[in-house]
Amino acid sequence: MLILSLKATITHKGAILLGKNFACDAFDDSKPLRVVTHAHADHTIGLHQSLRICEKVLMTQATKDLIDVMRGPLFLMSGFVEALEYGKTLQLEEECIRFFRADHILGAAQVLVEDFEGTRIVYVGDFRIDETPILDSDVLVIEATYGSPTCKRPFQKDVKNLLISLVEEKLKHGSVYVFGYHGKLQEVMQLLHKASVKAPFVVPERVFHISRVSEQHGMRFGRLMLSEEREAKDLLDRDSPCIAFYHMGSRSRVGRGAFRVYVSGWEFDSPCREIADKEYVIALSDHSDFDGLIEYVRRSKPKVVITDNFRVGYAETLARQIHKRFGISAVALPKR
Ligand SMILES: [Zn+2]
Repeated sequence: MLILSLKATITHKGAILLGKNFACDAFDDSKPLRVVTHAHADHTIGLHQSLRICEKVLMTQATKDLIDVMRGPLFLMSGFVEALEYGKTLQLEEECIRFFRADHILGAAQVLVEDFEGTRIVYVGDFRIDETPILDSDVLVIEATYGSPTCKRPFQKDVKNLLISLVEEKLKHGSVYVFGYHGKLQEVMQLLHKASVKAPFVVPERVFHISRVSEQHGMRFGRLMLSEEREAKDLLDRDSPCIAFYHMGSRSRVGRGAFRVYVSGWEFDSPCREIADKEYVIALSDHSDFDGLIEYVRRSKPKVVITDNFRVGYAETLARQIHKRFGISAVALPKR
């Protein structure tokens, strides 16, 4: 057991170290290969250093395309980036690495490293249990965002329909602004498009480019209008029915006085909550809730678990719960 637990760790800078060769989601100078599981900022830590120093930086093609849009096309060219597709194997000395899909944002990957002893070291990354394949593991590194038993969403299945009907209802009275993070905004756009919600979609330039990349990788949104276009400006100025999609960071700058919907995972009491006049929070998350995290561990059957205590969440609580429920070694790393 002691030996197994040495095969993965998490550093004080947030790097998830797997086997002898791989550092995921933050820079670490002891490993030749850097992995980026997805394009969110808390998983691209120290990427500039990794590009300069590591032999190779691995990510899916979709993640690469998203980072190109978010950081500019020159950024990744400062190092050697290899796009590794889901299910393909890359061998390095006596270890091999494979990516598997993670239901989180476009391009998100789980990482499986198998070493010379056949030990399966799995890092799930960020994920939602719904459409994430569960990998058998010996050593499992798992996120802990909603790792407390207080973080359960019993209403999960109704959230999408609620969001659609809320937006449709509010469109009868004028423009609707939807605020969320990159990736989740595109999920909402696709959801409303598939539900045939009849209103133009308006997006600022950054969201437009990220959406174009998402379309190249199979997502569908219908026609998008740039918020700078005359037609879009007129719609918003006149408070005509249209849906504007903005990053959460823009919420204090745009859409004042209009109907505003925030999509957020940090909601457990109700799938939809009115927080102020014309302002709503919808509990749409791209992370598993507590039950989803426990479910992954149960089905993955690890002998040792490490919970991510670097990123936001409840790593220590989750480690205790895993140990209590399954009687296996579980530790929150890095130690605080
Ligand atoms: Zn993420």
